[in-house]
Amino acid sequence: MGTYKEFHKRSITQREAFWNEQAALVDWHKPFAKVLDYSRPPFARWFVGGETNLCHNAIDRHLAERGGQQALVYISTETGQQTSYTFRELHAEVNRCAAMIRAQGVAKGDRVLIYMPMIPEAVFAMLACARLGAIHSVVFGGFASHSLAARIDDARPKLMMTADGGMRGGKSILYKPLVDAAVRLAQYPPHKVIIFNRGLDPAMAIISGRDLDYAALREQHMDAQVPVTWLESNEPSYILYTSGTTGQPKGVQRDTGGYAVALAASMKHIYCGQPGEAMFTTSDIGWVVGHSYIVYGPLIYGMTTVMYEGLPIRPDAGIWWKIVADNKVTVMFSSPTAARVLKKQDPAYLKKYDLSSLRHLFLAGEPLDEPTHRWIADALGKPVIDHYWQTETGWPILSAVLGVEQTPLKFGTPSFPVYGYDLQLLRESDAGEAGANEKGVVAIVPPLPPGCMTTVWGDDERFVQTYFTGFRDKLVYSTFDWGIRDAEGYHFILGRTDDVINVAGHRLGTREIEEAVQAHSNIAEVAVVGVADALKGQMPLAFAVVKDSAMIATPQLKAAHEKEVMDTVDRQIGAIARPSRVHFVTLLPKTRSGKLLRRSIQALAEGRDPGDLTTIEDPSALDQIRAALATR
Ligand code: ATP
Ligand code: MG
Repeated sequence: MGTYKEFHKRSITQREAFWNEQAALVDWHKPFAKVLDYSRPPFARWFVGGETNLCHNAIDRHLAERGGQQALVYISTETGQQTSYTFRELHAEVNRCAAMIRAQGVAKGDRVLIYMPMIPEAVFAMLACARLGAIHSVVFGGFASHSLAARIDDARPKLMMTADGGMRGGKSILYKPLVDAAVRLAQYPPHKVIIFNRGLDPAMAIISGRDLDYAALREQHMDAQVPVTWLESNEPSYILYTSGTTGQPKGVQRDTGGYAVALAASMKHIYCGQPGEAMFTTSDIGWVVGHSYIVYGPLIYGMTTVMYEGLPIRPDAGIWWKIVADNKVTVMFSSPTAARVLKKQDPAYLKKYDLSSLRHLFLAGEPLDEPTHRWIADALGKPVIDHYWQTETGWPILSAVLGVEQTPLKFGTPSFPVYGYDLQLLRESDAGEAGANEKGVVAIVPPLPPGCMTTVWGDDERFVQTYFTGFRDKLVYSTFDWGIRDAEGYHFILGRTDDVINVAGHRLGTREIEEAVQAHSNIAEVAVVGVADALKGQMPLAFAVVKDSAMIATPQLKAAHEKEVMDTVDRQIGAIARPSRVHFVTLLPKTRSGKLLRRSIQALAEGRDPGDLTTIEDPSALDQIRAALATR
């Protein structure tokens, strides 16, 4: 093992040699002629001329050596169902599914929209599309019909695959009526809809001639053997929309070969997995984390993937750790939001099960505040790795790369730029590189490494305009996040560039103020937004969830507590960052993927419409914000 610094440097200065080596981690049907074609900046083409297939790499290539090993373990605490599939069994299911998709006239390059809950059939459908060279567009189950219709019209799928419904917290959410409404709304609807019937909706309406039953089709294709369709490395594997936190979801297009290589390399160097071990990622297949680290990453690397449908605290807050113990999980991946949910529960649950198999817990998706990072690492007694990435990149941008060097972990930071990323922090004023402890926009000097988005689906111009025009005279990819680097090279994400509050000419990141509020020991979670102020331009306003509600039980206690929290901010940052109010709520509005909907809170605080709320986790959170605002 060399030093990580050298490893990273080589990935930038000897880019082609570096990625040529990593490419050996996957199977190629035809070897590539060129590692990188960067003749048309900022469009990068990786492993040009090489032919491969994601499904082959995820399943077929493992059959000889590990056909009898578990590939997919499925656990649902919603239905009580628990099943598992060996690589051989997964191979059979995916072939059946590929045959039924092919029978609908779907061929290479055609789109298939997958709108499914967390069930094994969703994984079969994704892998079956990959097998056929069809492009999947997985839409998170729960998006309302107009959002779904917009995604149908963007991808123009030949086929849609769905289920009668999903389940959450013991309640079923019917998908089929949403699908029917979306198909009616869409301008370019699919001709066929395959429905996996879970028996959640006895009254489900079937549209004859269009709707097909998954189980019935499967019966017709029990012995199907569908040959893999080899794709040139740069042919698209899928389309996936960003989470829409900023209200502008973008259709990320991903290639095939570069993605396979990037995932395989990340499994080895970042996640430190071993073929034959189990990985448990708590996300949803509808998000990028689900694509990369529930489905493709672990399977490509020959690991067992554990798929879970259910809440982290049902039947109790020990469920995830029971899953880890039962399946000897070595690599776990979750989110800061989930860690904060657990923080509100009895910590004894984290000690109840044998977690000796677990090596690391990885968290991503949102800023991980230092107290939560420290809390979960202590409670688990395991290294907890904060890492930072985006739907656009498909795999981490900032992380400790412990498979290369055991660099010390620091709380509150996602450590270093990951190999392959020529990352810079750029001053907004003159696009110059920020020095140590100076804030800058997190930017990546192109070419983007393998696995990253290749373009916006169907819109090269939007790709360039959206991501590469932030700095005049400098072609860089902007992440739209602020970052800062300390003297030792550790990076900190300070929030989104559009989440900046301007108080009397001082630019403050909402994240910085949130960290300061969270420094108060009774605060579990907080959202800070900037609200227009006639005098100061903007003022920070905080909405906080407390750990011990006894401390705000009476109006007097509440007022005293509010002042105490404000004083904490004064001490941490300075009076300039002091929120005009700290409202106490029991719940914050978040997307289903756990991201704070700051733009909606801000809109309400400024008396505007909260905007598109189709991905909101619990709409009652906004009622609490409204109620709090009314007390001003
Ligand atoms: P949209 O781009 O549609 O507005 P989104 O940015 O929330 O939505 P994602 O691609 O799911 O969509 O999220 C990526 C963003 O999440 C990052 O740009 C960053 O703001 C945040 N993020 C992810 N991981 C971390 C992390 N470890 N620390 C801080 N922020 C993170
Ligand atoms: Mg984004």
